[in-house]
Amino acid sequence: MASFSVQFLGCKVSHTDAQALRERLLRDGHDERAGVADVAVLNTCCVTHEAVRKSRSATMRAARTHSRVYVTGCAANLGGGELAGLPANVTVVGGSGEEATRVVAGDVGAIGCVGADVRLERTRAFVKIQDGCSFGCRFCVIPLVRGGTRSRRVEAVLSEIRRRVAQGHREVVLTGINLGLFRDREAGWTLPQLIRAAGATPGLARLRLSSIEINHVDQALVSALRETPAVARHLHVPLQSGDDGVLRAMGRRYTLATYLRRLEPLADLNLTTDVIVGFPGEDECAFRNTLAAVERAGITKAHVFPYSPRPGTATAAADPVPPEVKKERSARLRAASVVACRERWREKVGREDVVLVDRPGRGYGDDYSPWLVEAPVGALVAVRGASVTEEGILAA
Ligand code: SF4
Repeated sequence: MASFSVQFLGCKVSHTDAQALRERLLRDGHDERAGVADVAVLNTCCVTHEAVRKSRSATMRAARTHSRVYVTGCAANLGGGELAGLPANVTVVGGSGEEATRVVAGDVGAIGCVGADVRLERTRAFVKIQDGCSFGCRFCVIPLVRGGTRSRRVEAVLSEIRRRVAQGHREVVLTGINLGLFRDREAGWTLPQLIRAAGATPGLARLRLSSIEINHVDQALVSALRETPAVARHLHVPLQSGDDGVLRAMGRRYTLATYLRRLEPLADLNLTTDVIVGFPGEDECAFRNTLAAVERAGITKAHVFPYSPRPGTATAAADPVPPEVKKERSARLRAASVVACRERWREKVGREDVVLVDRPGRGYGDDYSPWLVEAPVGALVAVRGASVTEEGILAA
């Protein structure tokens, strides 16, 4: 039996891949341990230059405290020498999440305790329904490292959701690289049908989508979100830029007008987004269009990513916006996002909500607004907003 730890960097798909690997090692009878262990597995991210740098630093740290380190995930599939020169006890394992799990588990060695029921510590379960992406955003390395879209079968997804609920998870997040590409051709199902069926799982309190491209926000999806009571009142819809010229240069498949129009029927939800700042061709005017678009769409939290060219992409050779300009624009957008979040939180003062407590003293309301609340981790508690702090809404 080996002792091990699994960490992930990056998105919720990286989280689900790390979770699958962790479950496999536990089922094989290995002993999970925080801090020093025999084996460390790092499921990495390569979506920006900064993400690769962090993945590399985490690997170097792990190599000092573990006998063996396995590097899996997106950065492991990147090639091009970004993970070159790692210590001798580090093995880079490429391939899909499933392939990497097989390789690492085989290497660490399956020993005893097969079939143990693994209870994950999180109150929120991330269930992968789809992987890869068949869009071709010109800046994005994800299709290169994860391949084109492929979906899990409906029955496999629904059965995992039932298992997570039986384990005690109250909330399930449907997770994928590009969720709207989910298809079970044999069942004839797309995402809206899956949402309705998943939301009807007995015992499930909340269903959430990790994110959705605006191209997939159509009438069928809006109806499924509206007519499934378990669906949370939150939607994460990447904008990337609010300037049509930059959107075109990015190879995104919509204009700002389309983005705004498609979100109109969901305007009461808590809308969050991703924005790339400092993309080639983004001048001050284009950036102001993005600032205005975030406000017009009623977005609260904007996850801001300063542009960094990724190897192998169409824009790999272009990075004309100076770092200090990216930094300054990022700070302006983040500041606007803080203001928008606070406004939404203030609306909750004096009102009731239901919070899923996911850490001591903290949790999230139905629309994914953060609350400060004293209740046991895992509890769903009715709260009333007393005031707003820097970190969220204080429950009375
Ligand atoms: S939709 Fe675009 S940004 Fe998102 S994973 Fe696919 S190619 Fe990348």
